Amino acid sequence: MKTPTIFISHGAPTLLLDKTPTNNFLKNLGKSIDKPGAIICISAHWETSQPMVTLSQKPKTIYDFYGFPDELYKVQYPAPGDPVLAERIINMLNDAGIHAGGDPMRGLDHGTWVPLKLMYPDADVPVVQLSVQSHLGAEHHFKIGKALSTLRDEGVLILGSGGATHNLREFGLYSQNAQPVEYAEQFDNWLAKNITEGNTKQLLNYLKEGPHARRNHPTPEHFLPLFVPLGAANDSAKGRLLHSAIEYGILSMAAFAWE
Ligand code: ZN
Repeated sequence: MKTPTIFISHGAPTLLLDKTPTNNFLKNLGKSIDKPGAIICISAHWETSQPMVTLSQKPKTIYDFYGFPDELYKVQYPAPGDPVLAERIINMLNDAGIHAGGDPMRGLDHGTWVPLKLMYPDADVPVVQLSVQSHLGAEHHFKIGKALSTLRDEGVLILGSGGATHNLREFGLYSQNAQPVEYAEQFDNWLAKNITEGNTKQLLNYLKEGPHARRNHPTPEHFLPLFVPLGAANDSAKGRLLHSAIEYGILSMAAFAWE
């Protein structure tokens, strides 16, 4: 049995503290699938020029956010690393013609530990973090997923962590419980429709085909992690919408899974 692949929207770091439907969803998500042997998490908060993986045996918890409640800066997520898996990822990517490297110092940023703290609070599943290349686009990240897809046969969870919509330039204009703003809702609906129908071509072409794509993603780093689990899915697999919510009027918290 292949492990499903998953994309989640992580929102703000306060996701960990706020008792929102998304907080509840992530707590249940960990229990709803077989516990993976390891997790590869592609985080929107690690941008590099070429794919990089964490090599540390004990990746530290990184507090890469400012002005949030003190409580968040005390959270530790001491999940072990998996240097052997990390080296295999580098080799698999290189074999696929994607030049990749490892970073022995890098820890886990909040794109990884905030959702994983909810999914696996005991931090008992080894985690390797994989970086995003914002300048290389959807197709590149899709190919990364394809190159790593056989790891699913070994119980490795390929998890993208970003945001289905993510216009931080308009963040703060609306309250957390505000009604969804139309341009965000339109893109969110378009995304769910194309994922659940298995329209890979349309998804890869999101900048042209997605309604208000650039307004929803003025920079692409929170959307690109979606293409790694999509690429690792079976060919033309229809994804499942696991969770849907729009917070702060414009921030979709949508999550998807693929077989
Ligand atoms: Zn983020």
